[in-house]
Amino acid sequence: MVESINPYDQRKLKTYRADSTATVERKLKQADRAFADWSALSLVDRTNFLRDVGAYLVANKQRYGELITAEMGKPRQEAIAEVEKCATTCTFYADHAAAFLADQSIESDQNAGPAAHSVIIYQPLGPVLAIMPWNFPFWQAMRFAIPGLIAGNVGLLKHAPNVPGCALALEEIFRESGLPNGVFQTLLIDVPVVETLLKDRRVKAVTLTGSGRAGASVASIAGSQIKKSVLELGGSDALIVLADADLEKAAETAVKSRMQNAGQSCIAAKRFIVEKSVKKRFTDLVIQHVQAIKQGDPMDDTTTMGPMARLDLANSIERQFHETLAKGAKALTGANGSAMQRSGCNVQPVVLDNVKPGMAAFDEETFGPLAVIIEAKDETDAIRLANQSDFGLGAALWTQDLDKADRLARQIQAGSVFINGLMRSDPRVPFGGIKTSGFGRELSEAGIKEFTNVKTIWVE
Ligand code: NAP
Repeated sequence: MVESINPYDQRKLKTYRADSTATVERKLKQADRAFADWSALSLVDRTNFLRDVGAYLVANKQRYGELITAEMGKPRQEAIAEVEKCATTCTFYADHAAAFLADQSIESDQNAGPAAHSVIIYQPLGPVLAIMPWNFPFWQAMRFAIPGLIAGNVGLLKHAPNVPGCALALEEIFRESGLPNGVFQTLLIDVPVVETLLKDRRVKAVTLTGSGRAGASVASIAGSQIKKSVLELGGSDALIVLADADLEKAAETAVKSRMQNAGQSCIAAKRFIVEKSVKKRFTDLVIQHVQAIKQGDPMDDTTTMGPMARLDLANSIERQFHETLAKGAKALTGANGSAMQRSGCNVQPVVLDNVKPGMAAFDEETFGPLAVIIEAKDETDAIRLANQSDFGLGAALWTQDLDKADRLARQIQAGSVFINGLMRSDPRVPFGGIKTSGFGRELSEAGIKEFTNVKTIWVE
């Protein structure tokens, strides 16, 4: 049995029956059969189906937004915006897939070899297993599914167990939009069944968004089967504020980046690294913005921060808070003496000062409303601190000198660096990490090609 619980008040929402072995086998067979027909459709037909998915999402955004809010606690308007983002990504890929996946002709130099002509084509792989987390329960799954399906693959979703309603809604969306049976299916299964699926010859590849622990396990099983994997894992993004930054904007964006979704975003700014000369002013501005956050019932549209999604996640952030304080950091908000202010999943936003390497909030990923201020002597020191992390997902850099920004951005070890703006995922640009943040890319042209066979046809 799978149970969904409203994290705001711990109310039980609904109980679902997990898929039996026979049901999983039936869905696998269906995926295998659906792939043959779906991949044989023209790209234009597949993009038209995905346009319909976009329209369906827009028409039902309210209902789906409220389901997201009920299951994982983000404010209702943010949940509706998440559904809208999925819809605009359908349109983006429907508009661009033909160009992204167009055959590529290579004219060969006859003097260099015998090829008269060669062409590169992009063909789908087959059923792809998508293992997804609960924090953006629609967006994370759709970010894979929209380009993956347009490219001709079919999807099998194993979602996080605290969002079973969202998991089934995703399957419903594809079905109600008119896609053929089996092109996108949800499996209500737990981790041991994932291993069986990864070893099944009908599953051709896997994409996982989640923790490093899960990523290492899934990629090693996929590797043992010589199957492609994409891993979108955790992050501890630096947000670097240099002395010449627009401090007002930097502080406002830093707090938004860190605190939105109750701090549960892989690309949240998890370490504010600030040049010494502006640290006091920046910190004061951060505190002002944090104090303006309105916590409460996420169904109430005046609420700007809802609960964390599960009690164990709130326990984790509380442990990191205590360990960081014990090593000499100082709490500026969200604490009563040395106690974190918390009621169940509802955690008051915390700002910690004097955070340094060796403390939990610097070394580990913090997945909750906890902002940390780290002092840097100068820009060189700031880059050193930013790179002093096992993670390499995203980063933000605030300075008014754009030449300097370009030079420093190239030195930051991350999959993306956003200059003077909010680090975010956007269908137009690749998204993904390096180091323990994973490998492979989602979104943009890079994302739609991840689950394709890049095939060379050589003609002599
Ligand atoms: P998680 O525990 O790794 O769970 C994510 C998904 O992986 C769930 O469906 C989970 O299912 C499954 N899973 C866990 N262990 C597994 C295993 N050994 N084999 C197969 N599947 C497994 O992650 P989380 O704590 O819920 O999510 C937060 C993490 O995701 C953070 O680290 C965050 O940074 C990362 N994240 C990354 C991105 C990105 O794009 N880079 C985006 C969002 C979140 P069960 O719950 O059933 O185990």
